[in-house]
This record gives sequence, structure tokens and C-alpha cells, in this order.
Amino acid sequence: MHTHHQLITVATEKSFELLDITPQLSNVIKQSGIENGIVSINSQHTTTALTVNEFESRLLNDIENFFKEVAPPEGRYLHNDIHLRDCPPDEPENAHAHLIAMMLGNSESLAVVAGSPQLGTYQSLILAELDGPCERKVSIQVMGQ
Ligand code: ZN
Repeated sequence: MHTHHQLITVATEKSFELLDITPQLSNVIKQSGIENGIVSINSQHTTTALTVNEFESRLLNDIENFFKEVAPPEGRYLHNDIHLRDCPPDEPENAHAHLIAMMLGNSESLAVVAGSPQLGTYQSLILAELDGPCERKVSIQVMGQ
């Protein structure tokens, strides 16, 4: 069995943004030379998430509206009492982003078959930026042969 690890960087542009990172994932698998196995993908942040779903523009708006209703950025959160926490005074008020990240989760694993991630026709690997814009790191480990 072989393993190949790579950190990819994704620059986000908005406070809430969904990005299709399937091309970057496929590229890492290709570079690994691994044809069959498994790939494990982890976001290295507490205010981003990874999910597999349909990357369709109207659905992307629905997802944003849904999460703004469930965890509104202007809601009342203890984590946003920056002055009561042991942290730098310029910490962002981002409790809503942490909560959405927890709902979505920060990792995915997929089968790799014939050098490609096994995704269905309507599936993409989506990075959810929940407190951007920011430069984000995603860890990708490919295992197999
Ligand atoms: Zn925070």
C-alpha cells in the first residue's frame, strides 16, 4: 500500500461561500499515482466545512439561506463576547460559523477507483467557507495502490 499526502490552499472571497473543490481533489489523486484505494479529506479550520452535494447555483443560494436562518450571524452567542474571552481583542464574532461547521462536518472520505474519486453524477466535493474571506487549507491523504 502507498500513501500520498498533500495540503491544498483555497482562497475564499466571501463571508459565506461554497466552492467546488472536486478538480483539486482529482488533481491530488492523479499526482499520487494511486489507482485504487481511499482518499480522506479534512478541512483544517473550525469555521469551514466539507460536504458532498450538488453544486447547482440555485441550490447554493438555498443552502446559504437555510443556514442563515438556522444560525444567523447576528444572533446572540456567548462565543461572540470577545471581551469576556481569553483571546486577542480583534477575534472575529463567528459563533454562527462554528455552529454551521459542526452541522456539516469537516471531513469526507471517498473510494478511489481507476484513479478517480467515486462521486455520483450530481455529486461534488464542496468546501463551505463560513467566516471568510480567508486562505484555507485542506489536507488530502490518498491510500492504496
Ligand atoms: Zn471563533
